[in-house]
Parts: sequence; C-alpha cells; structure tokens
Amino acid sequence: MITVMKFGGTSVGSAEALKRVAKIIADKEDEKVVVVSAMSGITNFLVSVADSANPDVESVVTEFSNKHLMAASQLFEGETMAEFRAEFDSRIEGFRSALLADREDPFYKDAVVSQGERFSSLMLAFVLRDMGIKSVALTSEDVGIIALGTPGNGSADLLNTASGMTMRVKPLLSMGVVPIITGFYGVGPNKGPLTFGRGGSDYSAAVVANAIDADMLEIWTDVDGFMTADPRIVAGAKKIPEMNFGEAAELAYFGAKVLHPRTIEPVRLKHIPLKVKNSFRPEEPGTLIHHLRKSTAEMLRSVAAKTDLSIITISSAEIAYRPAMVARIIDKIAEINVIIYSISTTLSSVAFLVHNNDVKMTLRQLNGLSGGDIERIDVKNDVALICAVGDNLLDKCGVSGDVFGAVKEANANVEMISEGASDVSLNFVVPMSKVIDVVRTLHEKFIGGQ
Ligand code: ASP
Ligand code: MG
Repeated sequence: MITVMKFGGTSVGSAEALKRVAKIIADKEDEKVVVVSAMSGITNFLVSVADSANPDVESVVTEFSNKHLMAASQLFEGETMAEFRAEFDSRIEGFRSALLADREDPFYKDAVVSQGERFSSLMLAFVLRDMGIKSVALTSEDVGIIALGTPGNGSADLLNTASGMTMRVKPLLSMGVVPIITGFYGVGPNKGPLTFGRGGSDYSAAVVANAIDADMLEIWTDVDGFMTADPRIVAGAKKIPEMNFGEAAELAYFGAKVLHPRTIEPVRLKHIPLKVKNSFRPEEPGTLIHHLRKSTAEMLRSVAAKTDLSIITISSAEIAYRPAMVARIIDKIAEINVIIYSISTTLSSVAFLVHNNDVKMTLRQLNGLSGGDIERIDVKNDVALICAVGDNLLDKCGVSGDVFGAVKEANANVEMISEGASDVSLNFVVPMSKVIDVVRTLHEKFIGGQ
C-alpha cells in the first residue's frame, strides 16, 4: 500500500511543526511519498521579491537563509547540522542564481517563487533522518514532474510524469526510503520551473499520487476537513466525514478553502481516494473523498459561498441566434485568462459572472470587439455565488423549489442561476449583503444546525 502525504505551509512552518509532521510520517506504516509546500510566509516573501523592481539580492538571500536557519538551529546539531548546512548552502547558491537570472525571461518569476519548497523539503528529510528514518529530499526536477502551460499557470503532463516517476521514485520505496518531494511546480517547456498557481502543492501531491499509482492521497493541513458551511458564518457547521469527488471539487472551487480545486482531477482519474487531515490534530478522522456515491439523509451536504463577484451582462439583438458572436466574446475574455464562474443566456443577452477585480480588464477587452454588435453592457458589482452541494441533486424532485423558497425566506433576490450543469451542485447568485442570511437559512433548513 502506497500513501502520498502532503503537508502545507503551516504544517512545516516551524521547528515544532516539522517535528510534529515527522512523527505523523513515522507513525504511518505504509510505503509513503511526501510532498511539501514552502514554510508558511516564504512564498509570499518570494513573490514580493520577484515583483519588486530592483531587489537587493544579498539582503534577500540573507533574510531567506535566516528564516530557515532559525528553525534548523532548533532541530539539528553536530554532524547532522554540518551535513544539513552543506546541502543547504548549495541550494542557497541555486537560489542566488535564480535571483540573478535575466528578469525579462518569462519564467523568471516561476524560478524565484518556487524556491521555498526546495528548503522545506530538505529540512523535513533531515528531521526524519535524525529520527533514524531513511529519507531523501528530491526536487521536481529530480523526480521528473513535467509541466505544460504559461508562466505561473502550469498543469502537469500526467503521462510523462508517470513514466519518469516510476523509474525514479518506486525503487526508493522498495528500499524503505521516504522521498520528500517539492510541491508547487514542475519542469516547464523551458526546462526550468513552471508553477501550478498559488496553493498548487495540493495539486502536485495529486499528480504524484496519479504518477505512482498510489492507494491513498492524504492532504495534511491546518483544519479538520471539509465542513457543512464556513464555521465563521454558521456556528453549528459540522465536519463532513465522507463525500465524492464531484461534491468536493465543486466545494473546493466555489468557496471552501480547504483544498486547491485542481487536486481532485489527477486522483479522480485513477479512483485514488483522498483524505483531508489536520496535522495539528492527527487524531481527528478528517474528510474522506472517493469516487463512490454516498447518499445523505439531509437534502444538502454543504453550502459554500464565493464572494466579491460581478455580473457582466452583454445585450445585443437576437444574440441567441448568433453563436459566433458569443464565441467571440468568450474568446476575448479567455485571452486575458479571466475566470468565468457562470454563464447564462437569453434571446438578447448573455451574462457572465467574474471576480470584481477582473471587471475593468474584461470591459476593456470587450470594447475591443469590432462591428458595433454589442448594444449595451451592464455591470452589477458585489454579488456572491452560493454553491449548494449534495449528492444527486438533479434527480431529487423539488430541490430547487425548496432551496429558492428558503432564499425567499432570507429576503434575498436571486440574480442569476446555474442549474443542471452538475448533478451535485445548485449554484445561484445573490447580493453580497445577503450572503450570511442565505447560507444560514439553507444550512438550518437542509443540513441542520445554526
Ligand atoms: N508554497 C506555494 C504557495 O504558497 C504552494 C502551496 O503552498 O501550495 O502558494
Ligand atoms: Mg494550501
């Protein structure tokens, strides 16, 4: 049995946290492969360095080193410390070269911001070795995580990653070695680092699980798992012990910040179950996510909300009969990589749901559409998407009637609806000012607990 265990930034964020994680790894009896994020705060620091016009390389290197060495000094001494320092210093050289590289290179930022994982993985491998567990820190380059895509926005090439990893990682497992692999990036088309987007280490771990045909993926974070609602909104929100990939994917995408939404796909493809666990409370059972349907007694499993969105409505005569025009509009928006959270059309209008911060850019793009085809564009800011998730919602008669009845009780106006696209979620838009009331009412009526 092979388990891939992923630890996030807070789980490896201090000497104490690293020791706690090492114990969790040691206690696990299976063959295991570990994937880590950078220590908490490190990637933010690197992003600010990469974005600043003229960083002082030497002081950046010193600050970065000190942050890690402070934790290391509480963990290692004597010979272990000497060995650690040798590897650490050679990685610091790599960091310095990344900082000094050509800033005009489109992958410059990826090379800089992906440095944190190289150091957290090294520290964890040494903590394990110090405990007498055979362990080795490996970079994405070492194990061959292959990435495709544009800077800051990579995706794994699953097939090529799998062939490299079978050769490089599987033999270590049979020798009883625990590989500690860097999350967050793969080797891009330029042969240098290409990151998977912020929070992408969860996705890296799923890619590794897919590549080595793991039996289980465990995402260790700082919460107990998925909840039936955000506990800051609903005090009586409960933990979700079990759900399926579809439900988890919708929840992760539309609100719950437990898991990077892209984590689901690589494991879903191979039916590898995924568990979300709390590294600060390992005794908690967490949430198990798998491909089986798990019906609920309650009508809904969870209610999430994505806030700070806007509806952009484009009106044009009989737009429904002009699919080429809708295609051009979507093409224009896609050119600037703006995420469209929902689309809805009528005979003479098409409405898009985007983030508030993306509105200006989107309008600028749409203004570039030629031919005077567009009659009017309206924008409604500050709306929120409510995502009501449950098993098999489409087949349950009357679900939308009940849900919208409850929304009416919360005195909220439904601004846009997307239903039918998925059988595990009913998504609709309400004004931001009504989010709390709507989530609380739905939770109370269809899940239970206020
Ligand atoms: N360290 C990266 C970030 O902060 C990746 C991750 O934590 O998942 O975005
Ligand atoms: Mg994370």
